[in-house]
Amino acid sequence: MKFGSQLIHGYSSFCPNTGASSTPIFQASTYHQPDIDCKGKYGYSRMENPTREALEEAIANMEGGSNGFAFASGMAAITAVFMLFEQGDHLVICEDVYGGTFQLATRIMPKFGIEATFVDATDLDAMEKAIRPNTKAIYLETPSNPTLRITDVRKASTLAKKYDLLTIIDNTFMTPYYQRPFELGADIIIHSATKFINGHSDVVAGLVVTKTKELGEQVGFIQINCGSVLGIQDCWLTLRGLKTLKARMDHSVKSAGIIAEWLSERPEVKKVYYPGLETHEGYEIHQEQASSSGAVLSFDVGSKEQVKKLFDAVKIGIVAISLGGVESIYSYPAQMSHASMTKEERDKLGITEGLIRLSVGLEDTEDILDNLEQAFAQF
Ligand SMILES: *Cc1c(COP(=O)(O)O)cnc(C)c1O
Repeated sequence: MKFGSQLIHGYSSFCPNTGASSTPIFQASTYHQPDIDCKGKYGYSRMENPTREALEEAIANMEGGSNGFAFASGMAAITAVFMLFEQGDHLVICEDVYGGTFQLATRIMPKFGIEATFVDATDLDAMEKAIRPNTKAIYLETPSNPTLRITDVRKASTLAKKYDLLTIIDNTFMTPYYQRPFELGADIIIHSATKFINGHSDVVAGLVVTKTKELGEQVGFIQINCGSVLGIQDCWLTLRGLKTLKARMDHSVKSAGIIAEWLSERPEVKKVYYPGLETHEGYEIHQEQASSSGAVLSFDVGSKEQVKKLFDAVKIGIVAISLGGVESIYSYPAQMSHASMTKEERDKLGITEGLIRLSVGLEDTEDILDNLEQAFAQF
């Protein structure tokens, strides 16, 4: 089955008891036990729930992994994965990692004796130099946020294997439709399903997929005992969103490519970051390891003043934190996703005062371009 069909039919997508065309919302915290000596499949909803199970089965199948897990947010998913490690362990993490992950790794995990070193993951030597005797994993995002830097996942996971480390990938930007980290050597995949997977800016959710049953057992144990499971209603909404992932991404990506080219020609724009532009650093690696350039791009308009003018003039789309919705989302990384970094750290990563991130939604491309054109006229 190809990916688009898999999204509709590649898991328990209808009710086996009634034939209902969508997985029912099993809004129950517990299950009657007819015989206490013979426990049924379902005992208590933190541990197992059929609606959550359908979503977990779906994402495991999409990514080609052994087990899937649904969490209350992307950060809850990432936290559960970090719980695999113990006091004295060390992680190597890409320096432009998601802001919440950065806070978790620098402000919370050290309390439990788990340390991290942040490296430029596009530089394999730097990554190797950061590995210590107690290092247990390499943690990556590619393309990264917000300047869409590209890490060679095959090379990074080969390096990880040489030192017996896990390779963990946050695949939120690409989704399993476009990037298949297990095929590139990863061991654990994480998603903020809040973004493209749910896709409608109406749910906060996280997913984890493990490559092996052994890792699956470990994450499963953490999931049910740390307990940050995704609520049943949100499991259902995420399943519903997932069904149209391909149709949504096909549209948004096509638009994003046109918009990125168009922005590259504009005198008001200093620089465009988009993995589909041949001039983008890591373009060839990305095209080789992913099947699309994605629906997120960033561009620099030079100053905060210009950003404010553009945001004031934008009528198609919203100005917000987040990405991957049906509506185009304009973000201001310097004061949103990367506000917790110092200006120096941001400058090093190219997150300037003039940088805007655009997650392209499902509006007509022409409307987005016309809207940007009239916004630039305000400059
Ligand atoms: C949004 C995001 C997260 C965090 O997910 P939440 O669902 O907001 O907790 C993690 N990684 C990436 C790449 C994200 O974009």
